[in-house]
Amino acid sequence: MKISWGFGAIALVISTGFLSGPAAAVSCGTGNFGSWLNGVKREAAASGISRRAISALNGIKYDPSIIRKDRRQGVFAQSFLKFSSRMISKNRLNVGRKRLRQHARTFARIKKRYGVPAPVIAAFWGLETDFGAYMGNSHTIRSLATLAYDCRRPELFRPQLIDALRIIDHGDLRASDMIGAWAGELGQLQFLPSDYMESAVDFDGDGRRDLIHSAPDALASAASLMARYGWKRGQPWLEEVRVPARMPWEQAGIDIRHSRAQWAKWGVRKANGKPLRADRLPASLVLPMGRLGPAFLAYPNFSVYLKWNESLVYTTTAAYFATRLAGAPRVRSGNGKVTPLSGAQTRQLQQLLKRRGFDVGKIDGIIGAKTRAAIKAMQLKYRMPADSYPTPDLLARLRR
Ligand code: CA
Repeated sequence: MKISWGFGAIALVISTGFLSGPAAAVSCGTGNFGSWLNGVKREAAASGISRRAISALNGIKYDPSIIRKDRRQGVFAQSFLKFSSRMISKNRLNVGRKRLRQHARTFARIKKRYGVPAPVIAAFWGLETDFGAYMGNSHTIRSLATLAYDCRRPELFRPQLIDALRIIDHGDLRASDMIGAWAGELGQLQFLPSDYMESAVDFDGDGRRDLIHSAPDALASAASLMARYGWKRGQPWLEEVRVPARMPWEQAGIDIRHSRAQWAKWGVRKANGKPLRADRLPASLVLPMGRLGPAFLAYPNFSVYLKWNESLVYTTTAAYFATRLAGAPRVRSGNGKVTPLSGAQTRQLQQLLKRRGFDVGKIDGIIGAKTRAAIKAMQLKYRMPADSYPTPDLLARLRR
C-alpha cells in the first residue's frame, strides 16, 4: 500500500481509507521528541533488532517540513483521460519500451518465477519513479520518525519505522542509503518498509535486497509483492472495450463481476470492435468517466492493483499503461462528450446526496465508493442510465 505517489517531482498524494482513520492507542507526540524516540529504541530492542541498526535513530530530528507535506495532501480529482494522458506521456512510453528491451532477460526470469508479465511491472516502475530516475530525496528514518511521532497516524508509521530498522539490521540497506519519498517509501518501486521486509527479494544474487540500486532486485520484488497480493499467472488484468449505446449500466462498477460471456451478451466488444471471447472469466466493467467515456473490463488480476493503491483512477491508469507497453493502442475517448463536474460541483452534489440521507463520507469533492453508490441509487430512482458517474444533468435534478 502506498501513501504518496512518486511521479518524479510531482509527488501527488491520494486520500485513502486509513489516512483519515481514527488514531489507535499508540504513543505519539505528546511529550518531548527525544524521549519519545527513546521509547521507539526500547521497542526495537525488545523486538530483537540489533543495537547497530537501532543506532540509526541517534540524533534524528523531528522534521516539520514532512508534516507540512502530509497536511497539504492534495486530494485527487482529475478525469481519467486527463490524468492518464499526463502520466503516460510519449516519452514515458518510449522509455518504458526501451527498459523492457534492456531488462528483457531479468523480466523473463521474473515472469517465470512469479507469473507477473514485464509490462505490468514496468508500468508501475515508470509511474512510481520514472524507471528509477526519481526515488525521492527525503531521509527515510527521519521522515518515518516524524510521521510516527505525529498524532495523526502513529499506528501506521510506527511499525514502518521499526521495519526500516529491520531492513538495516538485515543488511539490505545502510541507514545512509535510505533516501526516498517523504512518506517513507523506498527504492525504484517505492516500497514501504513493511512491504520491503515481507516481499523484497535479492534477484541479482549479491546477498542483499537492494531496491534502490539494483533494478533486478526492485523489479522482482514488485512481482513478489504482486504474487503475495494474489496475481494469477497467465490471466489478463485490464482490457479496453467498447460498450453499446444501451445496456444495463447499473452492472458497471469494480465490485460487480460477470463472466466475459455475459458482458458479450450485453453487447460489450473488444476495443477494435471484434467480439469478446465468450468464456467464464469473471470481469468488472469499469467506466472511469461514465457510460460515454472510455470503458474497460477489469479481470481478477486487477484486484492486485487495488491492493497496490486504492485510487481507482491511479490503478486504472497503471493497468492501462501496462496494456500500452504490452502493445495495446491508445485508449478511445468513448462514445460521446463527457463533462466532468468541477470540484465545487462535486461537493455540492455530495451535500445534496447527504441531505437525502445518503452516507457519502467526507464532503471532499472526491468521488469515492460511497458517493458512487449514492449517485447510482439516485440515477435508478430518476430512471437515468445508472452508470454511477455524476453528470450536470443529475446535479440539476438533485437541485430541484
Ligand atoms: Ca541484490
